[in-house]
Amino acid sequence: MAGYAALSAAAAADAAAGRGTGHARARMRLATRLATAGIGDERVIGAVTQVPRHLFVDEALATHAYDDAALPIGHGQTISQPYTVARMTEALLAPGCCSTVLEIGTGSGYQTAVLAALVRRVYSIERVAALWQRADARLKALRCRNVRLRYGDGSLGWREYAPFDGILITAAAHGVPRQLAAQLAPGGRMVLPLNGMDGQLLVRLTRTKLGFRHEVLEPVTFVPLLGGVA
Ligand code: SAH
Repeated sequence: MAGYAALSAAAAADAAAGRGTGHARARMRLATRLATAGIGDERVIGAVTQVPRHLFVDEALATHAYDDAALPIGHGQTISQPYTVARMTEALLAPGCCSTVLEIGTGSGYQTAVLAALVRRVYSIERVAALWQRADARLKALRCRNVRLRYGDGSLGWREYAPFDGILITAAAHGVPRQLAAQLAPGGRMVLPLNGMDGQLLVRLTRTKLGFRHEVLEPVTFVPLLGGVA
């Protein structure tokens, strides 16, 4: 797996000694729950087992970090539910994708860290300055070196590093943001929640020779994709 020298060493030491911390055990239980809920990609289950979600929420919420639930992270935003993180990651990666991924909506940085364990490079943009700073500090502390974060409006993309093999949007839009679709490499895929008449649906968009192929995956609940910065 990419990134994570510090994490892997700690996990290996725990495993060698036949012990797990309370958090490590809770992560294993969560991974089992996700597999039961239908997450079939073992790489994704492995990443969930590895990334310490309790470090991505306030200390007061740490005991709930391995519940399969979205939790508040301040500024009216939430860290996504682990099932949703796993499902989106799986939808983005299978089969054979991706080397470079752009994430819109860094939030806590948890989804960023899961991606960083699986792909060569992750770029992530957040529009709330305080969240961006906190995520940056967390990912640096975890020595997650294959991640680059940016403060700004993600719906404009990140032209300097485009095109991307994968784009993952963790906030719900009313339509596919055009500038993001334009930054998708040929054969690349975008996974995003879209607002519709009957609520939000998770959609996967694949760039083909002729245009874009749309697949509707399942109903989801996300905070809105907003313009500008805060
Ligand atoms: N992936 C995050 C989910 C955070 S919730 C996690 O795992 O914690 C969605 C995030 O998208 C929020 O932090 C919100 O501020 C951010 N967001 C909404 N619109 C945005 C935009 N246009 N550009 C960048 N970030 C945006």
